[in-house]
Amino acid sequence: MKSINPATGEVLESVEPWNETQLEHALEDAAVAAADWAARPIAERCELLRRVASVLRERQESLARLITLEMGKLIKEARAEIEKCAWVCDYYAEQAPAFLAEEPVETDAGRSRVIYQPLGTVLAVMPWNFPFWQVFRFAAPALAAGNSGLLKHASNVPRCALAIEQLFRDAGLPEGVFRTLLIPASRVARVIEDPRLAAVTLTGSEPAGRSVAAAAGASIKKTVLELGGSDPFIVLEDADLDLAVSTAVASRFLNAGQSCIAAKRFIVVEPVAEAFLERFKTAVEALRSGDPLDETVTLAPMARHDLRDELHQQVIDSLAQGAVAVTGCQPEPGPGAFYQASIIDRVAPGQRAYREELFGPVAIVIRAADESEALRIANDSPFGLGGSVWTLDEARGERLARRLQCGAAFVNGMVKSDPRLPFGGIKHSGYGRELSWHGIREFVNVKTLWIR
Ligand code: NAP
Repeated sequence: MKSINPATGEVLESVEPWNETQLEHALEDAAVAAADWAARPIAERCELLRRVASVLRERQESLARLITLEMGKLIKEARAEIEKCAWVCDYYAEQAPAFLAEEPVETDAGRSRVIYQPLGTVLAVMPWNFPFWQVFRFAAPALAAGNSGLLKHASNVPRCALAIEQLFRDAGLPEGVFRTLLIPASRVARVIEDPRLAAVTLTGSEPAGRSVAAAAGASIKKTVLELGGSDPFIVLEDADLDLAVSTAVASRFLNAGQSCIAAKRFIVVEPVAEAFLERFKTAVEALRSGDPLDETVTLAPMARHDLRDELHQQVIDSLAQGAVAVTGCQPEPGPGAFYQASIIDRVAPGQRAYREELFGPVAIVIRAADESEALRIANDSPFGLGGSVWTLDEARGERLARRLQCGAAFVNGMVKSDPRLPFGGIKHSGYGRELSWHGIREFVNVKTLWIR
């Protein structure tokens, strides 16, 4: 496992994966801790979660720097990520008691109720793109509910993984309630099969989702999968083009385009296609790449060189299949994993970019004759994570948003996650939900209590 600064290619640290004895100890500790943690009053667990939020805020600058050095995102985005983690901790510390309150139900019993009990130890297999946020949006609700958590983080962010474990420890959580496992992907199935593990959540790619779901299915364990996306961004002829273009740039190029809910397919109706493209091209060409620690830089490097190579191959193939390069479309020279801010137009069925997720700073434009064709194209995707519609006619926007096949549809706004709203997808984007009361109920036993 290697920590490599993607902006420079410099190896920061190499970390030895754990041996079987270390893994065995962590699994045992987590199981013991889960029993004690579940027995504590929820108010006590929530109080510790508030403490986690404070430690995150106290360490915001150093943690943000750690993120930027290890996976390359812009320092201001890294700071915002840490603040969002503190927010989700505060949110569940405040709301968890109500979300998990017992519900009396009138039946033929003397008393009957629905109660919510933790499942035990939950494994989180997480990606590098939001190396703190992805972990906290799992951990805050799962721990508030009384589970213990094990983290198998992406192999390129071991420093972030260890810093998160340390943070929970320093905030005062009992030993074993949250542990980081330093193991490669090949040993995840062994952890899932372990009888001490109750459930697993994965955020990552489709292939990783398939293998985690298969291992969990074989041992009948609950899973939540948050997988890839290729979110449509539908621009209708009556859209506010200035707002649509500035949001298109923010949504597509944030985190060097490496966000599951980034707008990826810009589906523009013909009457405004040229105007949109012209303004979009100007704004994209104004992005400036460079050292992500530099506050004035607006385009970060990609997180790994191999991911950049994969993205470039998707671009090359799509262009060979008939798409048209508008700007960019080349890796940047130098030791960093930079890729030019790119737009490809005239993307159509049969091209890789039409069906595959492009996880990097490349926007694809698909032209549609009208609203109904735009909707058909938007839903013609194996993915179903988010989507947005741009129109000044609110009723029209809502009508289309309701017909988008996805987990989150926005009208005149950038698709984003928010602790108060459920987050997740349909189709190959996965299943289950994170955040809001839906997220905290994923890893609990919804139990019937019937008393004569
Ligand atoms: P990835 O290769 O699937 O890695 C994600 C995590 O899964 C890593 O911890 C990885 O470990 C592990 N993993 C990989 N293959 C596995 C396997 N066969 N069995 C068990 N674990 C496995 O994904 P990525 O390329 O890092 O991340 C990008 C993908 O994640 C994109 O498709 C993106 O859309 C998706 N994503 C989705 C969301 C969401 O909320 N829906 C959020 C962010 C990202 P190693 O690092 O050790 O391989």
